[in-house]
Amino acid sequence: MSSRTRRSSIDSQEQQIIEEKIAKVNGEISVKSYSKGKFLGKGGFARVYELLCLDTKQLTAAKLITKESLSKARARQKLMSEIKIHRALHHPNIVHFEHFFEDGENVYILLELCANQTLSELMRRRKRLTEIEAQCYLQQTISALKYLHCHRVIHRDIKLGNLFLTDKMELKLGDFGLATKLEHDGERKRTICGTPNYIAPEILDGKQGHSYEVDIWSLGVLAYTLLVGKPPFETADVKTTYRRIKMNAYNFPDHVPVSDEAKALISSILINDPLKRPSLDDILESPFFTKNSFPKLLPASTLAVPPSSS
Ligand code: ADP
Repeated sequence: MSSRTRRSSIDSQEQQIIEEKIAKVNGEISVKSYSKGKFLGKGGFARVYELLCLDTKQLTAAKLITKESLSKARARQKLMSEIKIHRALHHPNIVHFEHFFEDGENVYILLELCANQTLSELMRRRKRLTEIEAQCYLQQTISALKYLHCHRVIHRDIKLGNLFLTDKMELKLGDFGLATKLEHDGERKRTICGTPNYIAPEILDGKQGHSYEVDIWSLGVLAYTLLVGKPPFETADVKTTYRRIKMNAYNFPDHVPVSDEAKALISSILINDPLKRPSLDDILESPFFTKNSFPKLLPASTLAVPPSSS
């Protein structure tokens, strides 16, 4: 993969050491050793572990992708595109891409460690969040999206499981596996991709192509999910979910208290015509965000229980 590196991994009885071999300009090879630690999670084609650099003592998250899973050219191209897009991004609300290397068995992508998992695990524990928490997490997601869209990148998979939390409770957007970079602002994309519950109607329709507005739609789905506790178009099967998205069939359940400002914002975003959706700045200026002040970061106690002031 990387032209300057050749690597190998070694098993020892107590700990697995991964070696990164770096070819220097003078032809010598230097070796950087890492200790493979705790298993963090599993994705579509990656297993993610904590990795400790034995030299610097820096702890990172390492995505291990087996070379076997990259035997098809399409899978390799997809990974190369994810790496190319992600490594160029630098923003406080985007998981930092450290670097990548490979050995005979795996490709290793080293990422900033997000020790407090994702909003998916948080929602499993908390069921639904208070408005202050939703304001705080959505504001950080919007900050990441503003940066991406400014750099002509569409994420295309905004959802609970791709929003990570660091030990300081900062929100970081990750997983650029479905992201795309436009050549110019007017370009339309045609690939059908996304996660069923969060997918925008124009992607399902497929006729006019899609652009940045698909991330705005998913942000609306995210806002609803954080406040209500389940996605707006969720049903037992994907086909019915898609039908409901196309018909814009969702409602706010009576038994869940959601403010009028939140309902107005979500309803303004979940509009089937992408051009009628608000911009990211419109969203930040909406009464949902301006009606009260909210903290930049939440205390770690909110991983288990609601904040005390609300
Ligand atoms: P894939 O691209 O194969 O879908 P993901 O990026 O979704 O893989 O990662 C799979 C899982 O690994 C995540 O759900 C999460 O539990 C864990 N994970 C991924 N990246 C990090 C990270 N930077 N810090 C901590 N855990 C992570």
